[in-house]
Amino acid sequence: MCAHLPPSAASVLATLLEGNERYATDAPRHPHQGRETRASLAEGQHPIAAILACSDARVPPTLVFDQGLGDLFIVRNAGQVLTPGALASLEFAVLELGVSLIVVMAHEACGAVRAAAATFGGDDVPEGHLAQVLAPLAPAVAVAARRGDADEGVEALACRSGEAHLRMTVAALRNAGPVIATRVADGRLGVAGLSYELASGRTHLTAP
Ligand SMILES: [Zn+2]
Repeated sequence: MCAHLPPSAASVLATLLEGNERYATDAPRHPHQGRETRASLAEGQHPIAAILACSDARVPPTLVFDQGLGDLFIVRNAGQVLTPGALASLEFAVLELGVSLIVVMAHEACGAVRAAAATFGGDDVPEGHLAQVLAPLAPAVAVAARRGDADEGVEALACRSGEAHLRMTVAALRNAGPVIATRVADGRLGVAGLSYELASGRTHLTAP
């Protein structure tokens, strides 16, 4: 399953998927918490992976992967958009913290993706600064719209837009030079895309 990733990244991904299995089967260990862990981490952090995830309150990566304090370097925003700030934070995790794996974690029924699909379909642009969230999602909605039926509903369009957004974000990260692209090319870093099911709690590798 992980043959596409460098060995170090594949090993980390396996650890995350094992944790997700514990979480989804209601058998979490809640590792690396408590006073001793906090004290040891005061010296510094050594996370095993960086995660780009949605801000959605139902998809907290540390719980989803049954990890603990200091284990995951997490960047979150609505729709897990690879903004310049998000990319810079992920580069920090690679350069300064030495993570060997970046996971982009999408999830079903994402409100940001649905809003982008609805806006693309003709709804008004939401007020305030939300347009800045939706604009980066437009290319994924356009790809999904081209491949779908013209009369499909917004829910179907949103679902396929979310899949396209995940694939495009993983591809953009792998090609994000110079920091990430060079390390992906020489095998020091892996980028994987996971999709999270809300009810089951399971993640699926969708962009290897
Ligand atoms: Zn979301």
